Amino acid sequence: LYVEHPLGAGQSVPLDRDQAHYLFGVMRLTVGAQVALFNGQDGEWTCDVAEAGKRAGLLTCVEQAKPLQTPPDLWLMFAPIKKARTDFIVEKATEMGAAKILPVQTEFTNSERIRQDRLQAHAVEAAEQCGGTYVPEVQELQKLARVLDHWPQDRQLMFCDEAEVGNALALAADTHRSAPWAILIGPEGGFSDGERKRLHGFAQSHVVSLGPRILRADTAAVAALTLWQTALGD
Ligand code: SAM
Repeated sequence: LYVEHPLGAGQSVPLDRDQAHYLFGVMRLTVGAQVALFNGQDGEWTCDVAEAGKRAGLLTCVEQAKPLQTPPDLWLMFAPIKKARTDFIVEKATEMGAAKILPVQTEFTNSERIRQDRLQAHAVEAAEQCGGTYVPEVQELQKLARVLDHWPQDRQLMFCDEAEVGNALALAADTHRSAPWAILIGPEGGFSDGERKRLHGFAQSHVVSLGPRILRADTAAVAALTLWQTALGD
């Protein structure tokens, strides 16, 4: 269970109404039961239920079950698509170990707004579900051009472009540890000529193909992250 509270030996962790309802109403846990907690910072802790109420509860941390597993410094940048498929991308990116998720607005972005809080909650749920101890930060929607204007010099960019032939696996395998990286996936309508030109001329950009067929943006995000995960192994 994810909590926004420090975790450590002997630490008491208060539960809010939803958490109490889930643990004591839905899961039927009682005082003395053990619960695994994580907060994205202190790893996973085994905690005892000290108080179990309908609207609140208290847990006590006993021992650390897993240290914090910080993923490699990889950002996933993608242009939001329809709601359910954007949710899917955030969920899969969390499972696949993206360190940060950056929704970007491109010229042909289908969706001009996102609910950052909802997407962040999806990342929390995905981390809970996959036994992760780290939750990637989901940023607010930003214009791609602005992100590129402020791009950190040392971060490399894997620009996924269906019009290209660069080998994505070779790129991931050869260079993954040499620098922090970002993956960029475009919207359903692809990138504009202007964006493509800028991205091709961008010093840190490495243009790659994900195969001969045009993938849906959500498939492309999973495919690119899979290559990266395969190369990194963590
Ligand atoms: N521009 C295309 C069109 O309208 O025909 C389609 C864009 S595709 C649905 C969405 C995004 O997925 C692309 O911008 C690209 O980043 C990525 N993508 C899809 N297939 C790809 C492939 N074979 N190689 C590399 N990237 C791909």
